[in-house]
Amino acid sequence: MSTRIPFVGGNWKMNTNLVGGVELAQALVSQLASIESGCEILICPPFPYLQSVGQVLKGRGVLLGAQNCSDEPGGAFTGQVSAAMLADLGVEWVIIGHSECRHGLGESNELIGRKVLQARAEGLKTVVCCGETEEDRHAGRTHEIIENQLRAALVKATFDRSESLVVAYEPVWAIGTGMTPSIDDAENVNRTIRSLLVSLYDSQFASGVRVLYGGSMKPGNAASFIASPEIDGGLIGGASLSTDDFVAICRAVAGASQG
Ligand code: PEP
Repeated sequence: MSTRIPFVGGNWKMNTNLVGGVELAQALVSQLASIESGCEILICPPFPYLQSVGQVLKGRGVLLGAQNCSDEPGGAFTGQVSAAMLADLGVEWVIIGHSECRHGLGESNELIGRKVLQARAEGLKTVVCCGETEEDRHAGRTHEIIENQLRAALVKATFDRSESLVVAYEPVWAIGTGMTPSIDDAENVNRTIRSLLVSLYDSQFASGVRVLYGGSMKPGNAASFIASPEIDGGLIGGASLSTDDFVAICRAVAGASQG
C-alpha cells in the first residue's frame, strides 16, 4: 500500500449562496472531524464565499481552496483574482486547469502553465486537472492529451514538497454526466501521469504526488476507484454539494487507506 495520504477535494463550482455555503461548510466540518487523519480534505467554494467559509474551516482539519486564479500578479485585469489575493485570504490550495475552464472558458495549456507558476510564486498548493474529451478518447488520444496538458502545466513549476502538488485525472465526458471510465482505464491513465511526473521531476518526488480520479465520483463508486493503488482519492463536483454524499465519499477514501 502507498504511503501517500489520500486526498478528496470538493469543487462547489458556481453553486450555493452565502448562507447555504456557510451551512454546508459547518455540516461538513462537524461530520468530517472523525476521519481527518485518514484523508486530506479540501473544499473549494466560489470566490465571494472564500472568507466566510474559511472562517468555518479554520482549525477544523478541512482545507480551503479556490477554483481558479489569474496568471498575472496584479493590475488592470478586470474580473480576475490573483494568487496573491487568495493567499492573503488564507486560501491554501487552488484548482488549475479544470475542464470547465479549459473547454468552457478557452484556457490554453500555456495559460494554465502560467497560472501554476503564479500560484506557486505565492506559495499556493495546486490541484492540476487534466482530461480528454470524448472525441479524443474515441480517437485513441487519451494518453497523448494528458501528457501534453500536464507537460505544459508543470514544465516550469517547482514545488517545495511533493504533497503541494495534486494531479486530478478528469475525463471531460465523465464530469457531471454520471458516466465513468472503467477502473482499469482510470488506473492506466494515472500510471501514465506518474511516469510523466518521474520524467518532469524525479521518482522520489513523483511517488509523493497524489494522483486523483474525478468525474461522477459518488458514494456508490468511490470505494472501487480508491481500491486501485494508482488512485489516491477524488475530485468531486456535484456530490460535494450534498453533506451526506461528500462525507460518505471521504469515509470510503479514508477507510480504504486505513484498512
Ligand atoms: C468536477 O467538476 O471536477 C467533477 C468531478 O464533477 P462531477 O463530480 O460532478 O462529475
